[in-house]
Amino acid sequence: MHCDPTPFEPFRFRGIDLHVKRDDLIHPLLSGNKYRKLFSRLHTDPGAIDTLVSYGGVQSNAMLSIAALCHEKGWRFEYTAKTVPEHLKANPYGNYAQALDLGMYLVEVPPRSYDAALSDLRESYGMRADKTLLVPQGGADPAARIGVEALADEIRAWMKDKGIDRLTVATPSGTGTTAAYLAASLPECHVVTVAAVGGPTYLKTQISALLPVPKNLRILPTRFRFAAPYPELLNVYEALKTAGIEFDLVYATVMWMALLEYRDTIKGALLYVHSGGVGGNESMLARYARL
Ligand SMILES: *Cc1c(COP(=O)(O)O)cnc(C)c1O
Repeated sequence: MHCDPTPFEPFRFRGIDLHVKRDDLIHPLLSGNKYRKLFSRLHTDPGAIDTLVSYGGVQSNAMLSIAALCHEKGWRFEYTAKTVPEHLKANPYGNYAQALDLGMYLVEVPPRSYDAALSDLRESYGMRADKTLLVPQGGADPAARIGVEALADEIRAWMKDKGIDRLTVATPSGTGTTAAYLAASLPECHVVTVAAVGGPTYLKTQISALLPVPKNLRILPTRFRFAAPYPELLNVYEALKTAGIEFDLVYATVMWMALLEYRDTIKGALLYVHSGGVGGNESMLARYARL
């Protein structure tokens, strides 16, 4: 199982010299770390499954990636989310519109019964005898490891080629699945991340459900609330774009703010793994425009 390695590009931003691993270019819809996390599913025989079930936010990058995967494989995709806001339903845009176009079957539940609906989902899944696969929110499951290891192998080959022996790899975290498996697969490197969702304690709990939190994983502090609009984040997004690479507004901007703040504490060469998700910018930019 392999795919063509994505490029390593030199990048300079506000006085930091680094390289960017362009995982955003890996696939038009399954972008960045979602491709890595769903890698083993991409190599699953189409006949092995008929339905894939997942849940989460209605503009999530994982949702779009899974929709693209199911579209390619001919699998039915059932996605449970909280009731879609009226304005979005009336004028679909962003990941939501694209996922519906790819055939996603959306199961809307009122916010107050969302948690109960997820418990039901897990329980009924355990009893289903048909060929259904449940992918937890954000693709946070042990099956994600193999694809992240392939990314680690590309990084190791690049280090050897460039003669780099001291490397810090930066990538933002939601569930922490990518950063943690990356750190575990690259024990010779340091991995720095930010807890974009819910803070460091929540992040460590999420990771611990999959593997022991790696010693070489460092969580940099951040003060931004998840997916909330902040002028500083929009500003860094625009500056990065001007510098030559578009990043996502929700995760990458928070990682970059932390890198700028903690750059002096990072020794050796720096590699930023682009985690994709640029497709989600349409809906975030619309929110910024409404402010
Ligand atoms: C999903 C996502 C993340 C978070 O990945 P985890 O493996 O859940 O930590 C980071 N960046 C972007 C752009 C994403 O879409």
